[in-house]
Amino acid sequence: MPITQNKTTLLQLLKTHFGYDTFRPNQLEIIEDVLAKRDVLAIMPTGGGKSLCFQLPALALPGTAIVISPLIALMKDQVDVLRANGVAAAYYNSSQPYEEQQDIVEQLKKGTLKLLYVAPESIAHFDAVFQQIEISLFAVDEAHCISSWGHDFRPAYTQLGSLKGRFNNIPVLALTATADKATQDDIVDQLAITKASRHLASFNRPNLYLEVRPGQNRIKQIFNFLEKHLDESGIIYCLSRKSTQMLAEKLQASGYDAKAYHAGMDANERSLVQEDFINDRTPIICATIAFGMGIDKSNVRWVMHYNMPKNLEGYYQEIGRAGRDGLPANTLLFYSYADVIQLRNFIADSANADVQYAKLERMQQYAEALSCRRIALLNYFGEHATQTCGNCDICKAPPSYFDGTVLTQKICSAVARMKEQEPMGVLIDVLRGAQNAQVYERGLQHIKTYGAAKDVSWQDLQQYIIQLLNQGVLEINFREKSSIALTPLAKEILYHKKPVQLAILHQVEKVTERKTRKSEKKGLFEKLRVLRYKIAKEEGVPAYVVFGDASLKDMEAKLPATKEEFAQVSGVGDAKLQKYATVFLEEIAAHIEASKPKLATHEQTYKLYQEGFSPAEIAKKRELTENTIYGHLMKKSAEGEFLDMHQFISSEELSKIEKAKTALEDAEGLRPYFDYFEEKIPYWKIKLGLYLLDT
Ligand code: ADP
Ligand code: ZN
Repeated sequence: MPITQNKTTLLQLLKTHFGYDTFRPNQLEIIEDVLAKRDVLAIMPTGGGKSLCFQLPALALPGTAIVISPLIALMKDQVDVLRANGVAAAYYNSSQPYEEQQDIVEQLKKGTLKLLYVAPESIAHFDAVFQQIEISLFAVDEAHCISSWGHDFRPAYTQLGSLKGRFNNIPVLALTATADKATQDDIVDQLAITKASRHLASFNRPNLYLEVRPGQNRIKQIFNFLEKHLDESGIIYCLSRKSTQMLAEKLQASGYDAKAYHAGMDANERSLVQEDFINDRTPIICATIAFGMGIDKSNVRWVMHYNMPKNLEGYYQEIGRAGRDGLPANTLLFYSYADVIQLRNFIADSANADVQYAKLERMQQYAEALSCRRIALLNYFGEHATQTCGNCDICKAPPSYFDGTVLTQKICSAVARMKEQEPMGVLIDVLRGAQNAQVYERGLQHIKTYGAAKDVSWQDLQQYIIQLLNQGVLEINFREKSSIALTPLAKEILYHKKPVQLAILHQVEKVTERKTRKSEKKGLFEKLRVLRYKIAKEEGVPAYVVFGDASLKDMEAKLPATKEEFAQVSGVGDAKLQKYATVFLEEIAAHIEASKPKLATHEQTYKLYQEGFSPAEIAKKRELTENTIYGHLMKKSAEGEFLDMHQFISSEELSKIEKAKTALEDAEGLRPYFDYFEEKIPYWKIKLGLYLLDT
């Protein structure tokens, strides 16, 4: 009998076990399908929240959920997170010691596990055991690995094809972030779940800020960026192993904690770097694209591309590693023409070169776009977005245009006079009247347009030429030393004065050598991060297993003071409430206390006085002399506070002081009075008397 759960119960489970209040798009629909024993194909972007789609049903249903996951590191992370949430989960793979494996099989037979993660290579070991136990569902994570259409085919996945046949009453849930239609169809075929209901979530990641900058002065631009993002985790993707090392060294030399990661390093070294990153010990990784696959770290705050990726799929996957926790994250792509040429050269030798060239061209168009980048990106992935996003560089500062006809004519004329034989670099040199070997050897200093655009900087000129390439005025003959050629449109501009609009270039941010280091004053978020780090270290788990950044931010926003309030924080379920409420509440309370504005000392005295303490009591409490306390009260009275100071002095005493005042006409300070009264009237009373006589 199918178990029917209404939305309220599911929301309760979500809060109890995971500490979340609402479902992300598509999660509820997928979960409901699984609970109704339907097979499901779920396609969600990285960070969309796929895991919850099988973890929640696993908790709602009797029996054990079997999760097939391709990467050992990933399994371990997910199991850590589940255990931190108090869920009985385990993983099984061939790298574990035999005893550990046996132990897991025992638990499985006893039915104590809610979830078991298994590597596809190990699934055959369970043929017999699976027949003896109650299985709630099969989840196939990274399901595109079963398809040879996908970009990440794994032969071991093909064994999964027989699951449905053998366990035809148990729902199979296939999950992936790979969207293309051919792969989708192949997944359901291969898994024999052709009737699966399909859920395709939007690939939009609105929290990612999309930015592209010209690649000049990359290193300085990176330094500038990092200055503003101290202590945040981020990845810089480079094209070559060499540049990962070069960059990491440069960053280290300037005091940044950065490490290189590339496929040429030995496996041990690589996994150390990865561990350090995951555990927030090394915030910055300079890596080739090998890095990041299977990393579940939710608080990567930025991703940079030092070089342009070869296609938008790769680009989107890489920037997708930022901001999985849903908090704002930055992405920054450096675009350089030299990269395009290099990537084209790589492609030239490969089998399906045409497809790859086409993909590279789309990548290039994206980088050179003059309208909302997110629209371009989503449309590429088949989502018909039309609404500008407001969270990309173009939306933030839309281009404005100027009449570029004359400049364009100069450029086109130079191309024509060089007989369409020269590449972009030479074209720019000629237009700027450069005096270098390239120019002189070819005798280009004699052509009429030599120096015609010398008032435009090299970089700007390059940007304008790129715009003309995009507008279809110029083209590149990639097959002939990448020389620049004219199109029919160029001829109209040259000979018929057809007007051209060019986008005004944004001034690349002035690179200043600011040396602002970590601010001394730590915000609550920082303090909570330190606490989280400490706990994670004690427990031997990655920091985000304790709490994600999103939870810490929510604590900062809500400032919970009680356990009940702490339970309201996003990511706080029952288990974490039990375990962590006390320490985090203490930290928050201490922060609130420390950031309270300090009362001036006389105000503190006055406050106690108002609370009913006598001056003698206050003196004792504050470890100050009574003299000082009366001084405070007089000050308060002098400031205009209504305070009956006469209560502290008798009228006899007051008249004595009045007499003394006449006697000691020229007295300076209180000492003469003190002596006058043979030390029988304390200083404070003399001071008070004089004060009262004066007012
Ligand atoms: P994916 O596997 O799709 O890349 P994950 O399952 O790792 O994504 O989820 C990404 C992040 O989003 C995790 O930190 C997870 O805890 C969080 N998350 C998932 N579902 C929700 C939700 N309903 N509300 C808030 N956070 C969620
Ligand atoms: Zn936009």
